[in-house]
Amino acid sequence: MRFGFDIDDTLINLREHAFHIYNKKLNQNVSLEIFQQLKTVEIHEAFGLDKEQGNQMWNSLLEEIYFTDCPAFEGATDFVNRLVQDGHEIFYITSRPANYCPKTRNWVVQKGFPVEDAHFYCGMQDHEKINIIKELKLDFYFDDKPAVLETLSDVPTKVFVKDQSYNQHVNIPRVKSWVDFNF
Ligand SMILES: [Mg+2]
Repeated sequence: MRFGFDIDDTLINLREHAFHIYNKKLNQNVSLEIFQQLKTVEIHEAFGLDKEQGNQMWNSLLEEIYFTDCPAFEGATDFVNRLVQDGHEIFYITSRPANYCPKTRNWVVQKGFPVEDAHFYCGMQDHEKINIIKELKLDFYFDDKPAVLETLSDVPTKVFVKDQSYNQHVNIPRVKSWVDFNF
């Protein structure tokens, strides 16, 4: 079978990692509880920033957010490695900017995820992921982002949503945890 994965906030806990960085940089102490209640993919609201300030903050910290010690979700690397051992093919589809693609790929490998050469896609918009998912004829695809998942209602691929506070309204099968997930 052919499995596709989004990376940020599907396999790795990027927003929470960014949340801790924001707290440090802004000299704030916003609680994790507030973060966990956010209904937006963007995290700036928790810090009292507006959209523009939030975008500025995110972009100025992008490399630190992407390439430091962001943890994978518990069980995520084991899950994907087990798929490879069982003979499945793995593809990564991330909307991270194309200029960060090689560095992201290396980082993902270092983190313990199995990556084959041509199986790593970057730099597309949310609504463009569907084209790659169709082209690759994926059997399964996993993502966290409503803007992506909303485009995938008519694909033959079996789509799962990684459970997050901002995607509770998305009505498709859910991955609550990678530790005990079975497809
Ligand atoms: Mg994501």
